[in-house]
Amino acid sequence: MARYTGPVCRLCRTEQKKLFLKGDRCRSDKCPINKKRPTPGKDPKARLGKRSDYGHQLREKQKLKRIYGMQEKQFVLFFERALRMPGITGENLFVLLERRLDNVAYRLRFSTSRSQARQFVLHGHVTVNGQVVNVPSFLVKPNDVIEIKDSSKGFVLIKEALKEFGKAGVMPWLQLDPDAMKGTFLANPRRSDVTDLADIKEQMVVELYSK
Ligand code: SF4
Repeated sequence: MARYTGPVCRLCRTEQKKLFLKGDRCRSDKCPINKKRPTPGKDPKARLGKRSDYGHQLREKQKLKRIYGMQEKQFVLFFERALRMPGITGENLFVLLERRLDNVAYRLRFSTSRSQARQFVLHGHVTVNGQVVNVPSFLVKPNDVIEIKDSSKGFVLIKEALKEFGKAGVMPWLQLDPDAMKGTFLANPRRSDVTDLADIKEQMVVELYSK
């Protein structure tokens, strides 16, 4: 399926949840979810009322996929990889999603959204252990050092993101040196560490793909 190019706030309104797809706007009063804008469509209440188990599982998968900015085919590949790993599939899926380079760059506050981080990676602004990596789905490993390339350190968007957004600190499995624009992926996160996505029911995603 082609990449969605419509208004991204509509995706949040469909889920009635902030998916944080638009950077600064998501943290401002302009966010339609803060304004309690309704679900899009002609009769949203009727649709929500009729939702089946499958419908709930599908919505949970769509939320997770959209938060991490992935397309269906790649998301399925991540799920299949999570299935082959030892342990709980839903938790494995979260670990894999969190290890994506675009996500790590976002979590290190180099950008205000995952989609912006994806652009920075694609344009070669991000290095892993000193080497430019321009693949957003590249999987970072524990102790990898993620840094903004020296020639990109003056890039205003990255500086502003670190200055404004960086005040909030980073997740516990990361370490950031904001002056050096450099961070370390200390360890794979546990599911319970991903506190900002605590309400996602990954077990429903597993059930959906296990049918
Ligand atoms: Fe979603 Fe951000 Fe738009 Fe709010 S502003 S609806 S969180 S994309």
